[in-house]
Amino acid sequence: MSRYADFHRRSIEDRDGFWREQAALIDWHKPPQTICDYSKPPFAKWFVGGETNLCHNAVDRHVAMRPEQSALIWVSTEVGQERVYNFRELHAEVQRMAACLLALGVKQGDRVLIYMPMIPEAAFAMLACARIGAIHSVVFGGFASNSLASRIDDATPTVVVSADAGSRSGKVVPYKPLLDEALRLSTHKPKTVLMVDRGLAPFERSSRDVDYATLREKHLNDKVPCAWLRATDPSYTLYTSGTTGKPKGVQRDTGGYAVALAASMKHIFQGKAGETFFSASDIGWVVGHSYIIYGPLIAGMATLMYEGLPVRPDAGIWWSLVEKYKVNLMFTAPTAVRVLKKHDESFIRGHDLGSLRALFLAGEPLDEPTATWIAKALGKPVIDNYWQTETGWPILTIANGIEKAKSKFGSPGFAMYGYDVKLLNEATGDELTGANQKGVLAVEGPLPPGCMQTVWGDDERFVKTYWTTVPGRMVYSTFDWGIRDEDGYYFILGRTDDVINVAGHRLGTREIEESISSHPAVAEVAVVGVADALKGQVAMAFAVVRDASLIADDAGKLKLEGEIMKTVDHGLGAVARPARVRFVTGLPKTRSGKLLRRAIQAVCEGRDPGDLTTIEDPTALQQIRDLV
Ligand code: AMP
Repeated sequence: MSRYADFHRRSIEDRDGFWREQAALIDWHKPPQTICDYSKPPFAKWFVGGETNLCHNAVDRHVAMRPEQSALIWVSTEVGQERVYNFRELHAEVQRMAACLLALGVKQGDRVLIYMPMIPEAAFAMLACARIGAIHSVVFGGFASNSLASRIDDATPTVVVSADAGSRSGKVVPYKPLLDEALRLSTHKPKTVLMVDRGLAPFERSSRDVDYATLREKHLNDKVPCAWLRATDPSYTLYTSGTTGKPKGVQRDTGGYAVALAASMKHIFQGKAGETFFSASDIGWVVGHSYIIYGPLIAGMATLMYEGLPVRPDAGIWWSLVEKYKVNLMFTAPTAVRVLKKHDESFIRGHDLGSLRALFLAGEPLDEPTATWIAKALGKPVIDNYWQTETGWPILTIANGIEKAKSKFGSPGFAMYGYDVKLLNEATGDELTGANQKGVLAVEGPLPPGCMQTVWGDDERFVKTYWTTVPGRMVYSTFDWGIRDEDGYYFILGRTDDVINVAGHRLGTREIEESISSHPAVAEVAVVGVADALKGQVAMAFAVVRDASLIADDAGKLKLEGEIMKTVDHGLGAVARPARVRFVTGLPKTRSGKLLRRAIQAVCEGRDPGDLTTIEDPTALQQIRDLV
């Protein structure tokens, strides 16, 4: 048995012994008594009896050892600024932010919603919440009022931390009006909005708004100790899309998450204290939580936080940062690489990449041409890793820190330690043990440390959504199809549900449908994900209008399409905007009225739509075929 196979086997067969060892990678105020309490499946409680703090592990423990070492490197090509905070300075800023939150009445267990661009204050806010035991809920800055309002209502935050604006491609994107609109729409009204004013977009101040710079001045020298939290206390919630229109708040614990990240930094990413990690993601996504903020800092690394595009001012910008800040490990999504691939390789080759050891890619399927191109251009290992918002760290990849293994293009690799991964027949629940059999990728409980504890405020939804979809057994479904080859490498073949993946961003087609339906002219709509060379997938909408005269000619169609796109931009955010809205007179459905999304998708991608014996009206599908 290979060293890694043995490591993995032990993590499953001697679960407690294995994770007790991993737990030593972090600082504990009180060591755990029970490693895993799985007495109420599928709810796993990790490191019961232990007390710790994420901020202590990410910041304080390093201040003692390496106060002058860089901790947070912030680069914005949007506003042309760079700032570097060493651990001592980061420690001070986090305490100032923590003092502000305390002054605003935030208590342990309260939620703080963070709606911010990629600026250092966003990192301070997350770490400050962790410090005082408040539960942060970061909402991606690309989401707009309706998305934000539904998250505000679900998280019921005491305070919202926000900023006047973000910036994209040099264009100011005001956040405050979207937040104000969300707060008008939401039922829950947080007491305070703590506003970081970057001076980018003037905004209206209401009695609810508190200026961060002013409040910070009053707490410059405050010392705010870390609150010792139970390992099982929630650290944050992060909303993610599913098959219903209502996003789910993925709830993460404290101790298990800290241990899982520390272990992944060692065994998977092989990052060491004093080195630099550059994750080109956003704090609004799970990668941003795990591998911009917590993971690298827990490992004592400097983390590079980047506000900007990979191709502005030119396609060499990332590599110039790698050179300037001696980045050792880099993390991004395949879409970004596909964007770079349109530019000349000389943008990469022109830089000294001597410090860089590996590029990690995740978030969406990594196609072979993209992987081959970037591996060749960089001359470094490119490591695919597969995971989900729900799991917080990789399910499938290569753990080079345990044993070097070759990557196979198209495969993220092996099941990671702690994950008892199974491929199951979706109809019978039987395990598929042979090579190259397609099944639902599932994980036998308990999920390892770091994975979601539950859906925020809805244990039943957690059980029903994730643990009851495979007949006859209680297993965690990833909702991805997969196969495993004769060498044990897994390959991901796409989602089993209506979730689509646009440029590495996960979107629920139902959410987009609901948003489009809110346009008064729309009677009915179907949204499907269609393969796209650049973004992996794009959303395509087919709408039935109430009044056909609106789309009597091409000008009318274009006008309505534009209006519908604006509705989505305004409601959900530009990330969710469909690539096209096409108009049809009816949608293909089964006789029982179920929308045949999969058949629509197949037709859009030029594939065989499969068995259509249950279709009510075949001409509806023909209309779509004619349009695409
Ligand atoms: P998210 O929760 O937004 O990270 O999206 C998770 C989903 O993205 C997974 O369930 C997969 O469908 C897809 N995904 C993430 N990483 C990969 C990968 N390396 N290869 C293929 N699909 C991936």
